[in-house]
Amino acid sequence: MGMLDEIPIAFDPEDVVNEFEAMTKDAERVQRDTLRKILEENGGTEYLQQWGLDGKTDPESFKACVPIVTHEDLECYIVRIVDGDDSPVLTGKPIKTISLSSGTTRGMPKFVPFNDELVETTMQIFKTSFAYRNRCFPVANGKCLQFIYGSKQFKTKGGLAAGTATTNIYRDPLFKNTMKAMQTPCCSPDDVIFGPDFHQSLYCHLLSGLIYRDEIQVISSTFAHSIVYAFRTFELDWEELCANIREGILSTRISVPSVRSAMSKLLKPNPELADTILNECKGLSNWYGLIPALFPNTRYIYGIMTGSMEPYLKKLRHYAGDLPLVSADYGSSEGWVGANVNPTLPPESVTYVVLPNIGYFEFIPVTQTLDEQNSSVEPKPIGLTEVRVGEEYEILLTSFAGLYRYRLGDMVKVKGFHNSTPQLQFICRKNLLLTINIDKNTEKDLQLAVESASNLLSSEKLEVVDFTSRVDTSPEPGHYVIFWEISGDATDEVLQECCNCLDRSFLDAGYVSSRKAKLIGELELRVVKPKTFHKILDHYVGLGAAVSQFKTPRCVPTSNCTVLQILCGNVVKSYFSTAFS
Ligand code: AMP
Repeated sequence: MGMLDEIPIAFDPEDVVNEFEAMTKDAERVQRDTLRKILEENGGTEYLQQWGLDGKTDPESFKACVPIVTHEDLECYIVRIVDGDDSPVLTGKPIKTISLSSGTTRGMPKFVPFNDELVETTMQIFKTSFAYRNRCFPVANGKCLQFIYGSKQFKTKGGLAAGTATTNIYRDPLFKNTMKAMQTPCCSPDDVIFGPDFHQSLYCHLLSGLIYRDEIQVISSTFAHSIVYAFRTFELDWEELCANIREGILSTRISVPSVRSAMSKLLKPNPELADTILNECKGLSNWYGLIPALFPNTRYIYGIMTGSMEPYLKKLRHYAGDLPLVSADYGSSEGWVGANVNPTLPPESVTYVVLPNIGYFEFIPVTQTLDEQNSSVEPKPIGLTEVRVGEEYEILLTSFAGLYRYRLGDMVKVKGFHNSTPQLQFICRKNLLLTINIDKNTEKDLQLAVESASNLLSSEKLEVVDFTSRVDTSPEPGHYVIFWEISGDATDEVLQECCNCLDRSFLDAGYVSSRKAKLIGELELRVVKPKTFHKILDHYVGLGAAVSQFKTPRCVPTSNCTVLQILCGNVVKSYFSTAFS
């Protein structure tokens, strides 16, 4: 580890682009080779042995022998690894580290295997998108203000290191070296990234950024939510931050000794800088353009901005002023999928080009997923290069880290091809969010409904800070409940309109007909107190989730008592739709 720490990795972005172009031109062959490699390395595992591959490594035999699985199907194998079984269960080489997926999308964290190959594919995907980004937005000899946070790491019963995937990555020396090679290492000390208290780390990230104000060229986080959260915090703490810079003394509320000592090495009295920042802030109207005002040499803002991050784009654009927003890549704790190689596209139109050598990918057409739900027909997935433009699919992943024909749970749409490999648009998680009767509404449907209804708040200069939903079946018939946190006070008339608009915006025929037939009750909008969603984040972080991977759960099941208590205990107003009466 020490050795690697000291050896900076140099790479030529043009070489990365050339390799990527060559590989994507020959995607079918690269996929075959990748599957062969995965099966050669892992064919002898207990898991694969049972499917009778008998040493065959071609896609046809693989598909014929090995079943399509979900995380649940693999749980018994993963638990044995977690408990210390180091025989070749899922991978030829024993798994030494476990990732804890954010779990915020399904309500509870799950364990997935982590290994060196995942670190390597992560760096490959980071370098690939960087190489394309750097052609449009070059950076050099600067720093990056990265709102990243390590989560708690612990040892499993079997002695394996466990932490969230992002933490496993941030801790790897390859990560730091790659950031250096990208000319923008993180401006904050490691003790801040890995500090045990997220609120203190966030404050110190902001402070480090301000200290290196002129050197900051990129503002980033894993998911865009963390950037918006950080600048909302800045709005509250800016005077305190300036006072710390003026006096060169860190606020006493930063109490973690390692964080204090790391920050005291950076912090020197600097009244001039404090005045500059104060003046910049005072010159802003409603914090519009805050980021370029604070960090005048920023080239772009970078983080995952698609899918469940889209609702934060409006606020992010407000803080960013004219700066470009560049969406980061697409992947999961289980493995990476694709890179954003068209960085000038606005986040709403971003697509991800699948890297054909980081895993073996299959695609289940959306029509089959629906048939399967209705009649348990076995789906027939197709290969990476066989997908069709305009169609939607569920992704299956076969990885170098012990997952074979694994349902990632995401729906994507093919928007085009980059050479012979598809460009995917992220649609949403596959599981339905809201369903009572014959209605079927996904995260995307909820997102669109909230977007249209929240437009009605703009006239009052208000916005939806965050939102979630649930199905309430306790009074018959059941109905949808949408929770909103709003940036200020809206009138009852406007909120009633928003509630009606939400109800009308679920366009699914099953919902509309059930509402008309009164088989689903009036939609309810509940407005919660400010900071309610911060409490939800704190709750998940307390359970070991990583702030860096946090996604607000967009639907809260009745079984999630704590989150429901937080929501219901903070309701200030509630409205029932009159849209179908
Ligand atoms: P995690 O549980 O933290 O590993 O989160 C992985 C999930 O985050 C993926 O399965 C996706 O649903 C979501 N995700 C990751 N990258 C993106 C992206 N670029 N756009 C939209 N959603 C993403």
